[in-house]
Amino acid sequence: MSALYPWLVPTYHQIAQTFSEGVGHHAILIKADSGLGAELLFDALARRIMCANPQGNEACGQCHSCHLMAARSHPDYHLLQSIEGKDIGVDQVREINEIVAQHAQQNGNKVVYVQGAQRLTEAAANAVLKTLEEPRPNTYFLLQAESSANLLATIYSRCQVWNLPMPNREMAQQWLQNTVESGSNAVLFEDITTALAMSSGRPLSALEVLQQGLIEKRKTFLRQFWLFYRRRSPLELLPWFDKEGYVQQVDWILAFLADSLKHKLGIDSHRQVADLTRGIQQFSREQSPQGLLQAVRIMQQVRSDLLLINGVNVELMLLDGLTKLITEVFEN
Ligand SMILES: [Zn+2]
Repeated sequence: MSALYPWLVPTYHQIAQTFSEGVGHHAILIKADSGLGAELLFDALARRIMCANPQGNEACGQCHSCHLMAARSHPDYHLLQSIEGKDIGVDQVREINEIVAQHAQQNGNKVVYVQGAQRLTEAAANAVLKTLEEPRPNTYFLLQAESSANLLATIYSRCQVWNLPMPNREMAQQWLQNTVESGSNAVLFEDITTALAMSSGRPLSALEVLQQGLIEKRKTFLRQFWLFYRRRSPLELLPWFDKEGYVQQVDWILAFLADSLKHKLGIDSHRQVADLTRGIQQFSREQSPQGLLQAVRIMQQVRSDLLLINGVNVELMLLDGLTKLITEVFEN
């Protein structure tokens, strides 16, 4: 259990408890966003369900099943996931359905972990549904989906649905502090707060921000954005976009614009760019609420276009978006 992140522990115990009481559901759907390390929660639950000799809510860690799980070679544990970034296809589901239709090789429980259920194609989702509608003894489905996922309503109706809550701020800060400090160099508390704000409170994403020095990179980039705003010079900003990270950079601009809009409207919560407050105050003073809203819309459109086109004409789309910012917002 020590391997579980602290924010996963309550949900783990609530679900494991249902198994300890002998009423564990055959299909458990947990809505959990990325950046929270939910894989560990699923891993711990799978171990608990597979264990031949559980100790209350915990797997014993000693039995043959536990050893097989620890070695990642349990023949009755199956992972269904997106391969090479593709959606989860119906063939993958059929293959697993056939296997779980057979008797468990270790005479115990069988677990199928569906990682990223929002990636199931419609046919695949229907194949999963068919299996969920005819539960087999000792067979458990654990499904993970993004909280914004639109799954078939019929899948929801067959599952026991749980929501993995976001960790509260103190817990996330504390965890980051401990994790970073067990590494080499000390990190300022201010940076931890900024990293968490940049990551919408998701601690593992915030850890990446700290480890990859993204606070500094964002600051540098937004400074260039500021110069672009002052000089109305999109061609000067273009070279600052990174070939690998341009969507993230658009997100940084969006965060800056969204915070400016919030400042304009007097909304203090969920600020993402807490480290550049003065720039935001000044920018916000010089724009109208309608202008800021329009700026957010323009950059959101750029973002969704960029995600759709897969690398072609990136520069052209960025240039088009930046030009619109000038004509429709800054000079309007
Ligand atoms: Zn065990």
